[in-house]
Amino acid sequence: MLPDLEEFHGLLKEIWNSRWVTNMGQFHKQLERSLAEYLKVPYISLFTNGTLPLLTALQALRIKGEVITTPYSFVATTHAIWWNGCTPVFVDIEEDTCGIDPDKIEAAITPRTTAIMPVHCYGHPVKMKRIQEIADHYGLKVIYDAAHAFGVEMDGESVLNAGDMSTLSFHATKVYNTLEGGALIVHDEETKRHIDHLKNFGFAGETEVVAPGINSKMDEVRAAYGLLNLKQVDGAIEARRRVAQRYREALRDIPGIRFFDDMPDVRHNYSYFPIFVSAKEYGMTRDELYFKLQERGIFGRRYFYPLISTFNTYRNLPSAAPANLPVATRIADEVICLPMHHALSEYDIERVVSVVKNPKK
Ligand SMILES: *Cc1c(COP(=O)(O)O)cnc(C)c1O
Repeated sequence: MLPDLEEFHGLLKEIWNSRWVTNMGQFHKQLERSLAEYLKVPYISLFTNGTLPLLTALQALRIKGEVITTPYSFVATTHAIWWNGCTPVFVDIEEDTCGIDPDKIEAAITPRTTAIMPVHCYGHPVKMKRIQEIADHYGLKVIYDAAHAFGVEMDGESVLNAGDMSTLSFHATKVYNTLEGGALIVHDEETKRHIDHLKNFGFAGETEVVAPGINSKMDEVRAAYGLLNLKQVDGAIEARRRVAQRYREALRDIPGIRFFDDMPDVRHNYSYFPIFVSAKEYGMTRDELYFKLQERGIFGRRYFYPLISTFNTYRNLPSAAPANLPVATRIADEVICLPMHHALSEYDIERVVSVVKNPKK
């Protein structure tokens, strides 16, 4: 959702007049305060995208050795582990969240394991309590890739408060965006200060560098844009909820097509509407339906196919073997995320639905 252009223009004028265009200016600070309040989290640090907070979280916690994660995510999750010189260890997902299967974590733990990096895929909260129990038992850190989980709550509490840290992405394709942007959520003031140093080369003052940091600050223009977008995010989520509801009404009871219903006690953000195609029952493979939709000008996305574990860098890792990842391997072959947008009209939805219902027509 784009913010109002006139309003954005007004804020741009303020930035121009102040001559303070980046380096934690007033809009950067204000957006951090506003997001902390909206998301119900104590401390948040803004970043220039959603990948650098993943890298920075691992740096800040001094994660070494092996990091347990899932291959059913956007490549950035595993890349962040690799860029920190750690070895990703893939664990399979469970079907009811598409997140890491907690029952399969312990078998993947070795003496070199230092952290678990789960993903709240499609904004569905993973089994945070079980994951924390395992982490506490083995002394592991937990960093959540919560790129999909903006505003997601469980039992009235933000999922971003789980684990040691959580990351968000504000990329233009996400439900809340600052064009490019992201954030790292932490639980105490001292860690927040350390993260703020790390995202600014490690500078703690004019002449003092406390750690080998990186440059990943969000500039004033995008922070101002983000402030305006925050005012409309509830409207965007509500509009998406209605789209999801329409899809569900129309697609229920089609043999071979599954989708998620809302989970009890979860405030969803309706980032995605994945459907899963069982070729045998449906009479057509996922790819056949995917290209059929494309022929009609409907662009679904195969999130997440191919699995990260099949990419060049990772495919020779022992944990990348498809036999180790049966659920993820199957789901990756079944999924299509249908168009999902606040402005999707009844007519648009009907067009999508009619192809899924009668793909051969
Ligand atoms: C979008 C996304 C990222 C990366 O975010 P960017 O802002 O594009 O860098 C990381 N993880 C997941 C699961 C994502 O969907």
